[in-house]
Amino acid sequence: MLIEQAPYELTVAKKAPLLLAQLNSLTAHHREFCSEYESVVTAQWPNYAVANQLAAVPYLAVSLFKHLSLKSIPDSEVFKTLYSSGTTGNPSKIALDRETAGLQSKTLVKIMQHWLGKERRPMLIIDKPSILDARNSFSARAAGIKGLSFMGRNHCYALNEDMSVNIDAVQQFCSEFAAKPVLVFGFTFMVWQYFVEQLKQSKQRISLPNAILLHSGGWKKLEDRAVDNATFKQAVLEHTDIPKVHNFYGLVEQVGSIFVECEQGHLHCSSYSDVLVRDAETWHPLPLGKEGILQLMSVLPKSYPGHSLLTEDRAVILGEDDCLCGRKGKYFNIKGRLPKVDMRGCSDTFTPTVRERS
Ligand SMILES: [Zn+2]
Repeated sequence: MLIEQAPYELTVAKKAPLLLAQLNSLTAHHREFCSEYESVVTAQWPNYAVANQLAAVPYLAVSLFKHLSLKSIPDSEVFKTLYSSGTTGNPSKIALDRETAGLQSKTLVKIMQHWLGKERRPMLIIDKPSILDARNSFSARAAGIKGLSFMGRNHCYALNEDMSVNIDAVQQFCSEFAAKPVLVFGFTFMVWQYFVEQLKQSKQRISLPNAILLHSGGWKKLEDRAVDNATFKQAVLEHTDIPKVHNFYGLVEQVGSIFVECEQGHLHCSSYSDVLVRDAETWHPLPLGKEGILQLMSVLPKSYPGHSLLTEDRAVILGEDDCLCGRKGKYFNIKGRLPKVDMRGCSDTFTPTVRERS
């Protein structure tokens, strides 16, 4: 089982057969237990029996989870429902049973421990304390903070309720923990807009030279402000002394199998996930270096048919097993969202239009 492997040590020769077998078994499982999924597979892949390669695994448009309640468990076994943050329209609804929820947490811990070490670190959260109140509990921000907070201890919230920096609390945290390995976590836009920018404007700085900053949540709003990854890292270093900054990418539809950015600036697949990039016209898989629509595979989703999903993000796969950071697996960059027009094309139908698939 891939879940028992270390996150970044499998080369493609070892990983590919294990991954294909697990994805095939998930496809069979969901066809049996989710009638909507079975209908999609039958309609879109009429001759499908079993996938002989990764690219032949059936996939759903991720937007489908916004329109349908797709699950492979009876209602009585729903342990928890996750909702996406979608800026417009319906949120995705993801039904988890105890088994899938457990797998997700276990995997997230395995991946995070690779980057953070096994010991819980003092944790500075770039958000306001009320983010975890009941009324926010369905937001992706709350879910992300909750998900990562168990990697930390001595949690400190960096922002006040009005989103200003709680500089006293932050300085207190720094004076107590700056000499130790610290975890700082926040959503990309929050870190930029409400932390780094505010420190800059008020000519304040903090010093956490042993910290690692993890951030997630998309670059769209920052790109609108012409802030790229290098600018982001530089500004973080300048105002906080945090030397290690890692973005990570993941979908609420595949919680747990996240993609973390390495020291080379590349997002890495773990042993529990993989990616393909498809041409937006033909849906054919594209070779390394070509930009297309990102497809995500994960071995975790058992309670809902989310093991192979076509996202609404554009990406380029840069290589496999040979990143200079030494980690194995595919690595890639996100190039932005699909234009609205294409997104509608994906979400109005079960999967992208019936065309040739491979
Ligand atoms: Zn790397």
